[in-house]
Amino acid sequence: MFGFASKDIGIDLGTANTLVYLKGRGIVLREPSIVIKNTRTNEIVAVGKRARDMMGRTPANIVALRPMRDGVISDYDTTLAMIKHCISEATGKAPGKWRGGKVMICVPYGVTSIEQRAVMDAARAVGAAEAYTIEEPFAAAIGAGLPVWEPVGSMVVDIGGGTAEVAIISLGGIVSSESIRVGGDEMDEAIKHYVRKRYNVVIGERTAENLKMGIGTAAVLNEEEAELDMEIRGRDLVTGFPKTLTITAKEMEQALKEPVTRIVEGLGTTLEKTPPELASDIMDRGIVLTGGGALLKNLDKVIADAVGMPVFTADHPLDCVALGTGRALEDFDRYRTAIERR
Ligand code: ADP
Ligand code: MG
Repeated sequence: MFGFASKDIGIDLGTANTLVYLKGRGIVLREPSIVIKNTRTNEIVAVGKRARDMMGRTPANIVALRPMRDGVISDYDTTLAMIKHCISEATGKAPGKWRGGKVMICVPYGVTSIEQRAVMDAARAVGAAEAYTIEEPFAAAIGAGLPVWEPVGSMVVDIGGGTAEVAIISLGGIVSSESIRVGGDEMDEAIKHYVRKRYNVVIGERTAENLKMGIGTAAVLNEEEAELDMEIRGRDLVTGFPKTLTITAKEMEQALKEPVTRIVEGLGTTLEKTPPELASDIMDRGIVLTGGGALLKNLDKVIADAVGMPVFTADHPLDCVALGTGRALEDFDRYRTAIERR
């Protein structure tokens, strides 16, 4: 029984993280979406966590690739390597040995049919009997617990590594969607830029991300928050030596102002284009934030303030897309009916 239940797999192939959902079990794997390849031999050197640990420490002929970039599937081989690795890790079968049932992979809204075909081919190549795709904002909305099948407008903003995807969903379909080219990566860049400009100190991507996760904020709202700070190490551009700095939450607010403003503005644009009935639903029910970027402190409050609507951060924002993909698998007949009607 158990073996049968685990034959269907849902995959959230994100820019930053890939998650695997086993039907009947839930999310069983979370891996960074990174594939390391030897460009001379075309050999895959490492995938996932092991690949992340190698980043920044590899010789010239070894490159780190991401299967997804800016909302598009970068190339077939990298995608295949990522899916193969994840299925193998999640099922405990040696790479290429798994033979399964349905595999449902989440793809960004608006991918071309060629890209969609490539993802489904990759799923079949790693042992899927049937391959399906599901649109990312739709999966995010299901995972956030929104009533996607009902004739009522729901708005979800999925803030991932590369982009923020805004979508309005009603009656089992996406009514409108907008992709804003700002996500967690851009926030990290903004932090690096700030530290360099203010202190003449260069910090790495991981340091910038740690700052963001530790004391990053869209707005400092009280005394207690203002007192937060964090010590980091970077390279002094003047002396060339390592230097230790203490960065405060107030500085984070400053550093992140631009990416946060761009998310708010993109959201405003989508709302302006929304048909009045749906806009009124959203006004009543609010906007839901998903994706890792939704974890930025007070982002929900800053957005709510700017658009004048209630804004909620989903429970477990990093898991919403994978949970939604999984739920579509568990409730496959309803999902199939909805996509066939489109
Ligand atoms: P994707 O769907 O593109 O793979 P995810 O939804 O997994 O992206 O989110 C990854 C992004 O979320 C990264 O940029 C990461 O730095 C960011 N993130 C994760 N945790 C936090 C946090 N606590 N605060 C701010 N950003 C976070
Ligand atoms: Mg995602």
